[in-house]
Amino acid sequence: MNRLSELLPGKVSVEPEDLICYGFDASGLESPPAAVVWPEGVTDVVKVMEFAYTNAIPVIPRGAGTGMTGGSIPSQAAIVLSVEKMNKILDIDRENMAVLVEPGVINGKLQRELQRYNLFYPPDPASMNFCTLGGNVAENSGGPRALKYGVTRDYVMGLEAVLADGRIIRTGVRTAKGVVGYDLTRLLVGSEGTLAVITSIRLKVLPLPEGVIALLALFKDAGQAGDAVKQILSSRIIPSTLEFIDGGAIRAVEAYKPIGLPGDSEALLLIEVDGHPAEITREAEKISRICESLKGEVIMAEDEAAREKIWESRRAISPALYHIKPAKINEDIVVPRNRIPEMLKALKRLSEETGITIVNFGHAGDGNIHVNLMVDRNNKEEYKKAQVLVKEIFRLTLEFGGTISGEHGIGLTKSAYISMEIPPEELELMRKIKGVFDPKNILNPGKIFP
Ligand SMILES: Cc1cc2nc3c(=O)[nH]c(=O)nc-3n(C[C@H](O)[C@H](O)[C@H](O)COP(=O)(O)OP(=O)(O)OC[C@H]3O[C@@H](n4cnc5c(N)ncnc54)[C@H](O)[C@@H]3O)c2cc1C
Repeated sequence: MNRLSELLPGKVSVEPEDLICYGFDASGLESPPAAVVWPEGVTDVVKVMEFAYTNAIPVIPRGAGTGMTGGSIPSQAAIVLSVEKMNKILDIDRENMAVLVEPGVINGKLQRELQRYNLFYPPDPASMNFCTLGGNVAENSGGPRALKYGVTRDYVMGLEAVLADGRIIRTGVRTAKGVVGYDLTRLLVGSEGTLAVITSIRLKVLPLPEGVIALLALFKDAGQAGDAVKQILSSRIIPSTLEFIDGGAIRAVEAYKPIGLPGDSEALLLIEVDGHPAEITREAEKISRICESLKGEVIMAEDEAAREKIWESRRAISPALYHIKPAKINEDIVVPRNRIPEMLKALKRLSEETGITIVNFGHAGDGNIHVNLMVDRNNKEEYKKAQVLVKEIFRLTLEFGGTISGEHGIGLTKSAYISMEIPPEELELMRKIKGVFDPKNILNPGKIFP
């Protein structure tokens, strides 16, 4: 790595404390790399890739390490390429409703900056205050607003990226439309750092909605919450958010950070509508009536402070769960919306049969359920049982017409299961695409493919 340090003086570290810090992500896996490099622009990234290509050294692109599937976990021989210093918002083009950003910009920072211009970037992963836009593009991240506004893919107009051998490509268009050639932008979105290092991103933005109203509806019966979801979505309203939290998660939140949620609730819906104030007031009242007709207890928040209080319950879930067990296996399955109640019933049955606590929450509007198997990794027997259970959950998900990952990607933790969903001929095509982009297999090797 001495040569790399010469090429990028002051931007490379092989110090053990750095290697430890850049060897883990939110999946709970860890493995320190051989070196960490912090490029400050595309020229630096080109130097890293040319060096790595010549010497056949693996490179692991890394944003903020909030990925849930081990996508940025390195091998011992690898260089971690952290984009955290490439963190500038390069242009806010108000006339063309587009922004140009470096990949290390934190999602929440862009959201806040755009508000000053009455603009809006909808994709809002729950990790938005930490995760990078480069990571969002690489994972095609979604968030609570995906129901109305779609996911990261729907906003990426074009990318600048560095290929495995150091060549720079610029994909996509600067215009609202464009259909020339294959859509390489969409190929790179969701490629989990296996095809190229993304060095700048052009994103479409929207006008900031004039108002937002949040509602929280508590149900004693999860089936009634499911019926409320169905009725809301067929009432000609598209909420910007329609989140679901099950009874187990509600009790975990109350035990961790009491915010006054009744302990006998079996489901909570967090709903938001955004748009013109008169219109959203009418929509919020309609949603309220639907929930109340199904015995839901509704709290409405019209100002920012009340809205923030409602979101506290959703944000407290992840830390709260660690008070049930020291670890969780978090799967982000998706089923067609109308099969959510069946899926939740099946999960309850599997939990009772195996004795493994399963807590569910997620984006009900998208059918995206975050299934959390609460485990103690030191309890080998329990952990093994949970692994078998994961496979059964994926089998059921596919049987219901779903997919095994809605937003967290495949990375390392799901690569063993990808062939449950993707047939061999398609996997082979994907491997060939990987080979064209990365003939020496140095970009994030060992990810996605079994
Ligand atoms: C509490 C919590 C809540 C979350 N909520 C959501 C949610 O609501 N929705 C959702 O979709 N996800 C969610 N996530 C998952 C995670 O935040 C997203 O996957 C996020 O996009 C990862 O961004 P990151 O910057 O942390 O990327 P990292 O974890 O560092 O990397 C993720 C992947 O992207 C690749 N990568 C990163 N930067 C680049 C680049 N510049 N070029 C090429 N490849 C790159 C890496 O190699 C890796 O494969 C959540 C995570 C946590 C911890």
